[in-house]
Amino acid sequence: MKVLIENRDRRKSILMSALLFLLSYVFGVLFHNIIHELGHAITVWVQGGTVTGFYFHPFNSSYNSSSYVPNHLLLYAGGAFFGLPITIIFMLIALKYRSSLLFPFIISGAYGFCTTGTWMLKALISPEITSDYTYMIELGTPGLVLLIVGIIYITFGIFVRIFFLPLAGIDYKTNYETRFIIYFTGILPWYILQALFNLFVNDFPLVSLIYFLIPIILFLVFEVYISLPLQRKFKVFKQIPRQQIKIHHNIAILVGAVILYVIVIIVNQYFPLQT
Ligand SMILES: [Zn+2]
Repeated sequence: MKVLIENRDRRKSILMSALLFLLSYVFGVLFHNIIHELGHAITVWVQGGTVTGFYFHPFNSSYNSSSYVPNHLLLYAGGAFFGLPITIIFMLIALKYRSSLLFPFIISGAYGFCTTGTWMLKALISPEITSDYTYMIELGTPGLVLLIVGIIYITFGIFVRIFFLPLAGIDYKTNYETRFIIYFTGILPWYILQALFNLFVNDFPLVSLIYFLIPIILFLVFEVYISLPLQRKFKVFKQIPRQQIKIHHNIAILVGAVILYVIVIIVNQYFPLQT
């Protein structure tokens, strides 16, 4: 009887962790896109310009349009560098309060670092795909700088994720099997959703699947396999039991995500890009 109850509790706690991961993606990726565009907007405002419109998307690149500003390099760099202080602030808050409610912001920051770093490397490998960073290169930024910053961003993003996993109930006592189950039920579904959306709605070529596979494999290697020995060695958090994650945490994040989606739908509709 005791074993049965323990098994049931274990299954429930794994489900709560997986749900926390999935909802953190739903909230966090859109939150990152908003922070990124705000970064561009700030560089417009400090140069006396006006932001004339925004476009946000939960899976896709986001954009903004603005009046003329003299320093375009600052404008393009703004998106990538605004996320850094914001993520550090959330990391410090999470270290102090250790609440699972802060996990979406950690996911958002880590996702931001990994994708921003990847886009920097993409600007070097496939310059035909234009982005903030291909424009930065055109404006004189040395490729080597983007290479170094890109690698630092990706590495930092991966380590932030690993060391803040205890907020999602994955700590140094969580075995490989549990990590694997949470990965498959909490992380993979979001990436599959993103891939399907881009293939069928966005008409991305099939070859772009490779760009979806890279993070999926990276997270499998880092979060499932490498994270355990790393967490055992460096205990950033005291142990947070998985049982601590309750349904109300997940409901709160879901509500947060719905509010965020409503805001971007309104902004896209009433404050559209001006070309
Ligand atoms: Zn940008």
